[in-house]
Formats: sequence, structure tokens, C-alpha cells
Amino acid sequence: LSEKLQNALGKLTGKGKLSEKDVDIAMREVRLALLEADVNFKVVKNFTKNVKERAIGNEVMQSLTPGQQVIKIVNDELTKLMGDKEVKIAFASSPPTIILMCGLQGAGKTTTTGKLAYNLKKQNKRPLLVACDIYRPAAIKQLEVVGEKVDVPVFSMGNKHDPVDIAKAAIEHGKKHGNDVIIIDTAGRLHIDENLMEEIENIKNIVKPNEILLVLDAMTGQDAVNVAESFDDKLGITGVVLTKLDGDARGGAALSIRAVTDKPIKFVGMGEKFDQLEPFHPDRMASRILGMGDVLGLIEKAQANIDAEKAMELEKKIRSAQFTFEDFLDQLEQMRNLGPLDQIIGMIPGMNSKALKGLEVSEKEIGHIEAIIKSMTKKERENPEIIDSSRRKRIANGSGTSVQEVNKLLKQFKETKKMMKRFGEMEKTMKKKGKFG
Ligand code: GDP
Ligand code: MG
Repeated sequence: LSEKLQNALGKLTGKGKLSEKDVDIAMREVRLALLEADVNFKVVKNFTKNVKERAIGNEVMQSLTPGQQVIKIVNDELTKLMGDKEVKIAFASSPPTIILMCGLQGAGKTTTTGKLAYNLKKQNKRPLLVACDIYRPAAIKQLEVVGEKVDVPVFSMGNKHDPVDIAKAAIEHGKKHGNDVIIIDTAGRLHIDENLMEEIENIKNIVKPNEILLVLDAMTGQDAVNVAESFDDKLGITGVVLTKLDGDARGGAALSIRAVTDKPIKFVGMGEKFDQLEPFHPDRMASRILGMGDVLGLIEKAQANIDAEKAMELEKKIRSAQFTFEDFLDQLEQMRNLGPLDQIIGMIPGMNSKALKGLEVSEKEIGHIEAIIKSMTKKERENPEIIDSSRRKRIANGSGTSVQEVNKLLKQFKETKKMMKRFGEMEKTMKKKGKFG
């Protein structure tokens, strides 16, 4: 999904002004990408409608960076789709807090029960796990092993008792032993099944849980959303834990659940280990889906720091290849205002840490470049052609660098300028062709 969305939106960022048609085309691609990612049909329809309405607004089209503004809107709407803010576990005002785990077989209930206990223990809670899955032969043993691993007690009564009675007894036990959170692991079925629902409903009516967490397998996409609807209709769930997100490249379930059921995703499972349960942050998930690091942070920083008029002036110079070392220095300074270089690069879409490693400009090199330019006279900055070998030696001495470095920079600058000139000419011919051809 990330890649498809990036492609669809990437086409917008290259453009200066956007027309309604540009936005339309991009939204069509966004819609396809979302549908392919198994996002609920109605959710997709609503989503693209909202983005389009906001994108075609005047403010966006008139801004300096309309493409980026559209991406920001997509990010905002994705975040909104998933509920805007993190929703935490609702602890009971007088303990114990009772959490009922439910879901289909294999969704990850037992594993998540252990992860949650691990997580709560770190918050200085004293959880108790309850084995109410009496059907699957090894289920009780599995929970006991999980409990041992995370060093949390497990309450079980074998498989000869009714799960409702086990739950009742567990709560008594927990109260007596000072457990402030009681997590009840229940049985699942392969499919939604009346008997199963009834059993969980009975447990619910007796234990009156503070949280009913539905555990869903992210890899099942829209099926997970359907399961969520059924469980919610019957039980009134309070939240969702979306497991196996580590294996879900599409993101369809994550994007649809909140919009379809209006129930928050509270945690996501990112692996089989106990420390791989994370609180769900809609904004971070949206950025992850867009694969854009913290682009918004970057856009905000850039808007705060870069003078729009100066930027336009610079663009003109670049187009006419009248770019000098003076302008270059200006650019370096503006970039510096944004923050440390590696941080800035980390915020650019498509630039992950891997790309960073391959990147040759380091903070140190930029420092050298700056020093070299500063050692040039004003005349030299504007007409680098006059920099002969004796001037090169002087500049190298003055900047504490070597003649080789000065040479390298001069050569690079010359080539860049040549390229700019070529671009400028290309653009001119293209415009002519467009007009007369
Ligand atoms: P239950 O039947 O709902 O209790 O499901 P289990 O807790 O037994 O989990 C079923 C399988 O899913 C196990 O092999 C777990 O290790 C695996 N699993 C659970 N959560 C995650 C997760 O977040 N990521 C991955 N990769 N595997 C998970
Ligand atoms: Mg289980």
C-alpha cells in the first residue's frame, strides 16, 4: 500500500500548480491503492471524497506547495480514519480491572494476553491471567507457559468446569491476592458461532468487564472487519487488538476497523515476542502507511524557516543558471536553520537510514564546503571562473581545507550549473513546442 500511495501522490509533488484534474487523477489512484489493500469499500469512497473536497479548496491550490498540502490532507484523513488519538486501557476506578479477551481461533488471544500482562507489569500492575479456553486440548497449558515466561500468575481449573464459573472463581481469587488487573483468555472458533458467542456473553454478564478486547488477525483483511462487526453487535466490544501487523503489508484492516465499527484499535501486535505489543497511534500509523517518515514535521519546519519570497527568487536564478556561490551559501544556511542534517534527511520521504548510509554529504563535508565558500571574495563567489591556481591555494589555506577539496567543489559547481542551463533550455523548447506544435 505504501508504495502505491507514494506513487499516486508523488506525481503531485513535482508540480507547481495543481488543477482539479490533477487531484482527480491522483485520487483515482489512491482509491485503487486502498481497494487493493483490502480497505472497506465504503470507507474508501468516503475517504477519497473528503480528501478531494479539502484538496480543491482555495488555500491549497494557491499555496506554494500544493502537492505537499494534498499529501498532508491525505495524512490527516488517514489519521482521522483510524481515530485520531491513542485510546488507552480504561482501568476500573476501584480495582480489579477486568479485561475480557475474545476473538476467533488463532487470532492471537493467548499470546496477546501474555503480552498485555507483560506490558501492565511494567506499569507496576499486578495482573492475573485466567484460562477460560477449555476446549482446545493444549490451551490451558499454553497460557500457563505464557504466564511463566512473563512471570505472571495464571488461574485455571482444568477443563471440567463451565468457563463462566472459572471466570467467577478467578475474580474472587484475584481480589484475595491483590491482583489489580484480571485478564480472561477465552476460547475461539474457526468461524463465528452462536454457541461461542453465547458463552462469551454469559461470561460478560457475570464478570462485567471494564474492557472487552477483540483480538483480530490483521492479515485476514476485510474478514477481520466483518468479524469485528459481528462481535461488536453481539457483545459491544470496547476496543480491538490488531495482531500480526508485522506480516500485513496491506493495512486494510487497520484502516477500516475504526470507520466500520467506531471502536478504537488499542494495541497492535508486531511480532510473536512479549515485548512486541504496541499502543496504537493513528498518526504514526498513517505516516507509516504513507511511508513518509515525519514529512509533516519537515513541512512545518520548512514553512516556518524558509522565506517564500527568497525561495521564488532562487528558483528564477536556478532556471536561468545565474546561480552563484553566494546563493549556494544562502541555501546551506537555510538548510542549517532546519536542524541537523541527518535529521532533516531522515524526514524526507523515501530516505530511510539505509539511504542515509549511502549518502555522501556528511555534516563535516558541508562544513568544509561552507568554509571554502566563505574564504572566497565576493567577486570570486559571483564569478568562479576567475579562481586560478594561486587563488585556489589561498582559499584552501583560508578555509583550513586542501586544494583538492577546493578543486572538487569548483568542478561540481561548474557541472551543476551546466546541468541547470541544460534544464532551462529544455524547458524553453518544451514550452515552445507546447505552444506552437
Ligand atoms: P489464539 O488461538 O487466539 O489464542 O491465538 P494464539 O495466541 O495461540 O496465537 C496464534 C499464533 O499467532 C501463534 O503462533 C502466535 O505466536 C502468533 N501471533 C500472535 N500474535 C502475533 C503477532 O503480533 N505477530 C506474529 N507474527 N505472530 C503472532
Ligand atoms: Mg488461545
